Amino acid sequence: MNLKYNTDLGGMNTFRMKVKAACLLEYDSAEELSSLLSDTRFSSELPLPLFHIGGGSNLLFTGDFPGTILHSRIRFIEPVEDGDDVHVRIGSGVVWDDFCAWAARNGYWGAENLSLIPGEAGAAAVQNIGAYGKEAGDIIESVECLDIQDNRTVVLKGSECGYGYRESRFKNDLKGRYIVTAVNVRLTKKYSPDLDYGHVREALAERYGSAVIDERRLTPAQVREVIIDIRRNKLPAPEETGSAGSFFRNPFVLPEQYAKVAKVAEKENLGPVPHFPGDDGLIKIPAAWLIEKCGWKGYVEGNAGVYRNQPLVIINATGKATPDEILALESKIVSSVREKFGILLRPEVEHI
Ligand SMILES: Cc1cc2nc3c(=O)[nH]c(=O)nc-3n(C[C@H](O)[C@H](O)[C@H](O)COP(=O)(O)OP(=O)(O)OC[C@H]3O[C@@H](n4cnc5c(N)ncnc54)[C@H](O)[C@@H]3O)c2cc1C
Repeated sequence: MNLKYNTDLGGMNTFRMKVKAACLLEYDSAEELSSLLSDTRFSSELPLPLFHIGGGSNLLFTGDFPGTILHSRIRFIEPVEDGDDVHVRIGSGVVWDDFCAWAARNGYWGAENLSLIPGEAGAAAVQNIGAYGKEAGDIIESVECLDIQDNRTVVLKGSECGYGYRESRFKNDLKGRYIVTAVNVRLTKKYSPDLDYGHVREALAERYGSAVIDERRLTPAQVREVIIDIRRNKLPAPEETGSAGSFFRNPFVLPEQYAKVAKVAEKENLGPVPHFPGDDGLIKIPAAWLIEKCGWKGYVEGNAGVYRNQPLVIINATGKATPDEILALESKIVSSVREKFGILLRPEVEHI
């Protein structure tokens, strides 16, 4: 266990906000967490509220945190092979990409498209992370949790986690109550690349030749490498530039709102509006397009900015941005998109 008071969180969030937490409690096993929290003499001394973080890659700390930050150091990867299936139990504190690298190294399919997504395995199950046509929920069999309200262990099947697009019950009715301690996923040794999203197939053909694809000779490691290359070209590397990835959610709008956007685009010669069908007759418009057409791509103000290759990403441009600078830029982007297109953008990044 690691218990610290008045601790700097600058190295524990990828936005690199230099904020402090009144207390940080890192634990090494589910049993340790359970016994610490059930020891009333110990737990009643912890400043409140409690907030659990992983790698801090989907968070914006808006100031010093007055309570206790919990963090898992449960780190194991335990595979069990069963024919072609490989059931893997992953400790919640394992860096997600370390698991993806491990799977690719062993020739197991299922996690390669999710390579290089920052953060830890516990949060991957909370966030239902996704990329290149795959979501964590596609491979999650069950999630082991500690219910800190009743201090009991609970195992939720994947089908009970309420997975949807970047959604889960851990972000909704179970938030603040269930702490993920391990994630069970199913991988396979059977040849099963998933190449139908974006430019993955073309990039693989360019790198390894199309015969490798046609003759079904690809390996998970090759797909992983190409996914990593594509991601590095599009997104800022957390070790170089502070960010929390996509800052805003893609809006789903009514057909009449979409028509208004199309009218503005026509009047201002903005080109065709990219759009995709959503549920219930709604239409998805990429937030990145709306932000770019408001002129924010590559914009920098003070220490905060908008990433030059992906306008959905707000960055800590100099490494010295304060939460207020990020919040001010967020608010300006939201206002300008609302004024021009009549659409209210909502943040994807959780504000703490
Ligand atoms: C450059 C960049 C690229 C990104 N690309 C993608 C992408 O392609 N796809 C994608 O889906 N996301 C992406 N993200 C977002 C981010 O990586 C994911 O949301 C990731 O799952 C967050 O993991 P984390 O460990 O950093 O969690 P944190 O940001 O620390 O926490 C996220 C949430 O999970 C909760 N939480 C964390 N650990 C636990 C636990 N053990 N038990 C219960 N709750 C917990 C926290 O309370 C918080 O609500 C990107 C981020 C960055 C910076």
